[in-house]
Amino acid sequence: MSDNFLQFVPADANWQPSAEAADRACRVARELYPDADEINAEFFDCPQVFVPLGFWDGPRCPACGADIEAWWYDVAGAASEHDFTDLSVVTPCCGTTTTLDACSDDHKPRFGRFVLSLMNPGFDDPPDVEAAIAEALGAPVNHVWFHL
Ligand SMILES: [Zn+2]
Repeated sequence: MSDNFLQFVPADANWQPSAEAADRACRVARELYPDADEINAEFFDCPQVFVPLGFWDGPRCPACGADIEAWWYDVAGAASEHDFTDLSVVTPCCGTTTTLDACSDDHKPRFGRFVLSLMNPGFDDPPDVEAAIAEALGAPVNHVWFHL
């Protein structure tokens, strides 16, 4: 049996909430997803990449559609050494200037030093959930689904 995870990552890759705000967001998430198996808030010293595993064909060039997966992970690794302050890239296939998180259509990878993670939340994500989590944390968030 596979597990689904719904993760909320601050839109600013370097932003972190206070411990109180993280607790508040956990409580809000529990109200919104009462059937979730687990709800955890995690802080990281350096920004992490949250990849939508299982929902993603891997990164593709937004201009020409080339498969740029190997290149993307190299560049994402290099960007992590600069705390993801600069996500702009030039794709190797056709030289298009874009951003790391734009190299994907629907399910985008996200970057952050904080994540609110829900295990098997039980239903899809209505748009207002993101807003409710953002309000509890005090900053805008994006969400990433993945499954293991
Ligand atoms: Zn291209």
